[in-house]
Amino acid sequence: MLPVIALVGRPNVGKSTLFNRLTRTRDALVADFPGLTRDRKYGQAKVEELEFIVIDTGGIQGDEVGIDALMAEQSLRAVDEADAVLFLVDARVGLTSADQGIAEHLRKQNKKVMVVANKTDGIDADSACGEFYALALGEVYHIAAAHGKGVRQMIDAALEEFQEENPIVDEVDEYEFALDHDDEDEERIAAEQERLAKLPIKLALIGRPNVGKSTLTNRILGEERVLVYDMPGTTRDSVYIPMERDGREYVLIDTAGVRKRKKVNETVEKFSVIKTLKAIEDSNVVMLIIDARDGISDQDLSLLGYTLNSGRSLVIAVNKWDNMTEYDKDRVKTELDRRLGFIDFAKIHFISALHGTGVGHLFESVDEAYTSSTKRISTAMLTRIMGMATDDHEPPMVGAHRVKLRYAHAGGYNPPLIVIHGNQVKKLADSYKRYLMNYFRRSLGIMGTPIRIEFREGS
Ligand code: GDP
Ligand code: GDP
Repeated sequence: MLPVIALVGRPNVGKSTLFNRLTRTRDALVADFPGLTRDRKYGQAKVEELEFIVIDTGGIQGDEVGIDALMAEQSLRAVDEADAVLFLVDARVGLTSADQGIAEHLRKQNKKVMVVANKTDGIDADSACGEFYALALGEVYHIAAAHGKGVRQMIDAALEEFQEENPIVDEVDEYEFALDHDDEDEERIAAEQERLAKLPIKLALIGRPNVGKSTLTNRILGEERVLVYDMPGTTRDSVYIPMERDGREYVLIDTAGVRKRKKVNETVEKFSVIKTLKAIEDSNVVMLIIDARDGISDQDLSLLGYTLNSGRSLVIAVNKWDNMTEYDKDRVKTELDRRLGFIDFAKIHFISALHGTGVGHLFESVDEAYTSSTKRISTAMLTRIMGMATDDHEPPMVGAHRVKLRYAHAGGYNPPLIVIHGNQVKKLADSYKRYLMNYFRRSLGIMGTPIRIEFREGS
């Protein structure tokens, strides 16, 4: 499971500057998909090879009121869900009574808290930060969020005890990193593909409250043989439910907590963005459930943004398709086209979790998406397809020269990354890049997963 880090501190200490720095690398992935609402409170963070979820709690005000009132309920919940808390203070301003109020509150939590003095650029950090030891929260870390100084060390320290990985993730990761794409031969690829086909597919069922996640989970489990009942997890984690269907193994990542409830009428779990983010990151395929009766909400789009950001495969289920008038069906389809038209790779299913209509077909798309995202493709094959694409439609001229594409190889999987080497590649128009991407998608039969293409100058 990905660790969760919460940023707390009074306004203006640099929380959002740090948040932006930590999430920047991952944001680059969604840059290709304009029009998505992103929730800037939650982010998928990456610092070099370290991945985690970061929450900007905001909301904590100055020292005018008692600390209990200061910590907005949301911030409290975020701290509660976090594995570690970075408590930011301003090295230029020095220690304030608001800082002391926040520290007092944090000391009462049974949680890892680190004091982080920000804005240490261009000042004598050691002498400026000495006073923060009075917060009695141990070591004071020095950073300059605006410049990245000290950030890696701070994150290393924050994640120290949370680096242990989920065993199910490890199994897949091993395959992801064991491959050296350059000397892959067809035989080795076939063997690899066979092995991947035997791994359970981790399928996260996500969606905002009331879209029908629990109903769908129960429907799926009612029809299939559940291999093991409930894998253990903490209250704030999803439940992992291994199951089998048509000879294929899956692990359902149940964010609605269906299996955690002892009785049917027990209160439904609170929706949690953090839980959903963890489920996405830990899955192979995400199933985003949308309520046909409500249309597409901003919250749907922000969940979609997180999924695209993670690079995971995606299947969309438009639920509650029962009892809809033809007029309403048309209206929903038009809205889907208008607002989700840019995600042309994901299959959209219209289902009724309540009646079971269309539920079986969901798995065809899940399997297809998984196969696509993990598909091993040789350098020879990619270069051949690239050659066909450029034969059909030559790259444009740049001044007196034509952009020349030399060869292509796989740079990674899940999502597939294709690296193209050539001359003047930086000058390729976006429209030509899109043409190439679609050409690869069609030629390789890749559905359900985004494809990334990276261009490199020279050989
Ligand atoms: P927040 O209210 O805690 O989210 O704080 P912001 O991230 O909005 O930052 C408040 C101000 O501090 C902005 O003007 C930032 O440019 C500035 N700031 C943030 N980090 C640094 C830093 O490392 N060095 C300096 N000199 N200024 C910073
Ligand atoms: P969750 O919060 O996403 O887990 O949503 P639930 O599974 O608890 O469903 C919320 C409500 O929508 C319940 O009253 C369900 O009976 C209803 N519901 C779920 N799926 C369908 C469906 O396919 N059709 C209709 N008509 N109602 C549904």
